[in-house]
Amino acid sequence: MIPISQPVIDERTEGLVLDVLRSGNLAAGRVVAELERHFSEVAGTKHAIAMSSGTAALETVMELTLRPGQAIVTTPFTFAASVSSALRAGLEVRLVDIDDNFNLDASHLEEAIDPRTAAILPVHMFGRPCDMATIGRIATDRQLILIEDAAQAIGSSHGGRPVGSWGVGCFSLYATKNVTSAEGGVVTTDDDFLADGLRTLVNQGSPTRYQYSMIGTNRRMTDIHAAIAIPQLESLDELTKKRRDNAHVLSEGLSGLPGLITPGDTPGHVYHQYTVRVTPAAPIERSALQALLTRQGIGSETYYPRLIHDYPTYSSNSNLVARDTPRARRLVSEVLSLPVHPGLNESDLARIIESVRQGFGY
Ligand SMILES: *Cc1c(COP(=O)(O)O)cnc(C)c1O
Repeated sequence: MIPISQPVIDERTEGLVLDVLRSGNLAAGRVVAELERHFSEVAGTKHAIAMSSGTAALETVMELTLRPGQAIVTTPFTFAASVSSALRAGLEVRLVDIDDNFNLDASHLEEAIDPRTAAILPVHMFGRPCDMATIGRIATDRQLILIEDAAQAIGSSHGGRPVGSWGVGCFSLYATKNVTSAEGGVVTTDDDFLADGLRTLVNQGSPTRYQYSMIGTNRRMTDIHAAIAIPQLESLDELTKKRRDNAHVLSEGLSGLPGLITPGDTPGHVYHQYTVRVTPAAPIERSALQALLTRQGIGSETYYPRLIHDYPTYSSNSNLVARDTPRARRLVSEVLSLPVHPGLNESDLARIIESVRQGFGY
């Protein structure tokens, strides 16, 4: 079976985790600090603050920078945490349409901006950077806080500038992400004051032992988790290059199939997922293609099977405001993600290509 994702765990990783276990210091310490140094380097920011998950990163940033009743703009084609974090912070969430790259379409931002709008949350979907030059300009002009959901996009950049440095960056280190610590998250920022606040909030509101400057909580990462991610961070460029190379091989091999749209390349795309579109012009339905791949031992997933406002749990929430999003509506019915992770070898890639082509009758 070729899995849709596969963590990069080697002997060095095992050794580093064992070192932590034997050190007697299991909670946040030297290894978490090392992970934070790597992250601020990758994102090109002054600060990186490690947390227990990507969701914790989003929640903490929103709790600290926004007030209940304010509105935030994002898209309905995303993982639930982008939206749940905002709703739990008491924000109104306005969902706007995406472009053909599954990213927030900046031309729809203006319609969602009014005096209550306080923030924009672009999601770098599947590792492809959003048009941050345009979104960043709108955020500056309209004095909005820019929060990047970079959960899938470590190492990605737009116009040579890393994601997570345009606004406040929220990264995830969940088990399936490009870099994993099993569970984990990181916030990146240049803002000294915000960095202090974030660090304090996730550490019981305590800037120094048994002093409390705010009502905090515990969303800390542990040294055990950080140790899992360190070797991947050290070889991030290499791992990202492998993903990009794999994507190019897949796109080459899958070109020319009727009704199949392969992901166009974008500079700075780190291919967290390689997501094709099986359009109505294809001779095989998406579900049939997925079944064929499964029978042949090839993992695939529909990220995402539904739009956020298609879930009654979300659509019934009075703080969720979704206008018509025709492109997201169409794309959600066409997407299929194929394996692209760095663990694939040449014969794996050939098998994936052959199976998809077979489904198309080629
Ligand atoms: C994974 C992910 C998150 C949440 O990260 P966790 O570490 O799983 O909490 C948020 N947004 C997006 C787009 C994600 O893919």
